[in-house]
Amino acid sequence: MTAIELISLVNQLLFVGLFVVVAARAIRVRSRASFDTALLFGSIAAVLGISRLAAAAEMAGSPIVVGLLLLLLNLAPYAMLRLVDDFSSTPRWVQVVGGATYLVVAALGFAFQVAPQPVELAMIGWFVAVGGYAAAAFIRESGRTRGITRRRMMAVASGVMLFIAAIVIVLTGTLVAANPVLGILGQVAALAAVLSFFGGFAPPSWLRRIWREPDLRGFIERSIHVVSIADDRLAIIELEQAAAAAFGASGASMGLADETRGILRYPDGESGWLEYPDDQFIAGQAYRQQHRVVAGDAVIADPDHADVYEQNAARAVIAAPVTAGDRRIGVLAVFAEREPIFVEDDLWLLQLIVDQAAVLLEARMLAGDASKLRGREEAARLKEEFLSAAAHDLRTPLTVVLGQAELLERRLARDPEARIDAAGVARIAGEARRLRDLISELLDAQRLEQPGAIGERVSTDLRLVIDAVRGRHLEHGLSLEVAEPSDPLVSLVDRKRIEQVVDNLVENALKYTADAAPPEIELGSDGGVARISVIDHGIGIPDAERVRIFERFYRATNAQSITDTGMGLGLYICRRIVEEHDGRIWVEPTPGGGSTFVVTLPLGPAPPEPGVEAAVVEPATPPGAGPMAEAVADA
Ligand code: ADP
Repeated sequence: MTAIELISLVNQLLFVGLFVVVAARAIRVRSRASFDTALLFGSIAAVLGISRLAAAAEMAGSPIVVGLLLLLLNLAPYAMLRLVDDFSSTPRWVQVVGGATYLVVAALGFAFQVAPQPVELAMIGWFVAVGGYAAAAFIRESGRTRGITRRRMMAVASGVMLFIAAIVIVLTGTLVAANPVLGILGQVAALAAVLSFFGGFAPPSWLRRIWREPDLRGFIERSIHVVSIADDRLAIIELEQAAAAAFGASGASMGLADETRGILRYPDGESGWLEYPDDQFIAGQAYRQQHRVVAGDAVIADPDHADVYEQNAARAVIAAPVTAGDRRIGVLAVFAEREPIFVEDDLWLLQLIVDQAAVLLEARMLAGDASKLRGREEAARLKEEFLSAAAHDLRTPLTVVLGQAELLERRLARDPEARIDAAGVARIAGEARRLRDLISELLDAQRLEQPGAIGERVSTDLRLVIDAVRGRHLEHGLSLEVAEPSDPLVSLVDRKRIEQVVDNLVENALKYTADAAPPEIELGSDGGVARISVIDHGIGIPDAERVRIFERFYRATNAQSITDTGMGLGLYICRRIVEEHDGRIWVEPTPGGGSTFVVTLPLGPAPPEPGVEAAVVEPATPPGAGPMAEAVADA
């Protein structure tokens, strides 16, 4: 056997094998495209089979055999024309002219014995014209698709070109006298053609995997960050876009299932969700059946929603349920302008994409559950913190009150006429006041977590705030040193709350000062903000704790040696009030020892008359009730 005979035999086997594969598929999937594919390779396989049989029967030259072979051979370009129409639509006249020309060329086959050369020339012309047209159409169509479909279309296009080249070479060879080089060239072209056709019409699974990989990777890369998108709607839209891009489809739509209500929720263009019963649309069918659905013509498959498909340029729809184990998460539908050419690949990709989407959506839900759990843990921790702080701090004064009261009770029981113990009563009153203050502080910290804790804000000269604080301390015989500007310094504040902040800072300054010099207050402005500094020369605060002292219930290690009264809520309350005013609060060491607490507040707008309260604004919307509120409420 010569090399050329070997290649020829391999070619023949491959073409027949390809015919068997596509014919089997045509029986399984009854579509026009699969029929036309079987027609194309059927005609080629028939030519090969008949010429073998004829050679064996020594009838190769018989006019009837030659006529039959040419009739079948010329069917191949006609089948290509039909395939072009299946894959992209061609004008009707092309089909009609193509069909008519085929009949003429096929009829000419029987005149081959009489006038071989003109017939062969006519056939070469027919092959080149139709083959060229088909190859160009497949190339153009592959440009419109992407991913594996594109690669398969390119393989089909090159198969067509190589096949036409092979036929033209062989026919030319017979026309120009047998030439061995042309013979080999023709067989090699035919071999390349059949391999390309395999790639296009029946790619082996390893080739499919290589071709599909970039689409799937593209989808994963685009959709992976869906896990961290907090908003369900935006996450679903992102998945839809990634799916449409992976398919090169005109769009995709994803519905999230609400099993208890029997609905699917689809994100709509603006800001909300569209809800439909979970059997609506082709997507709903896929969800209900828990099976992939392919609708080559959506309008025919689901005429009730024809308008929706038309609006979304969804001629063809493929849909698949999104599930994680037994849990039905929803459904994904991908739209295309025409029926998928290689539907099995699209279904395969869709399956991978819905599996991936299910994993991502599961991960999102788990992340959501985890943060809810963290929130609950935080609330539980706060509750515990709150209970231990409250129990400890409230018990001390309560013990004193109770002890003193019981003492008085016993004394009165022994001697009803005894003189009232003024010191004991004063202690009871003092401790009861402390109790009341502690409870107020607790309640205030809780209130500041809820909306409406900051009252009406009014343009206020901050010098009035400082003067009020100084006045109150003066009443108790303590003169505070104050430095303030001669002109008004106006800020939009809830005056009572800002006084509360300054009061608190001054009280702390006194509390943590031991015998050092009394604290000072400075008021000024600095880069567009008002600045209130409360400066003490007390025990100072360890560097590492300077930030933490503004946390709820935090008491620095320095405090214990000074006093065990206080719950570590005062500075937390100050911080909440200042932040609600869009200001800042921090502490820095006072040069020479002690602490300087600084509060800044935005300046302006000026009141109509200096120093007079004016311009009332709505209180800023405070953040929603936080875990603290929950903890206090539960406690
Ligand atoms: P409390 O005074 O009730 O403990 P605060 O929230 O007012 O709670 O203060 C938190 C902690 O910050 C205090 O326990 C103390 O350790 C520290 N601290 C506050 N003000 C001063 C200050 N002027 N000098 C030193 N330490 C201070």
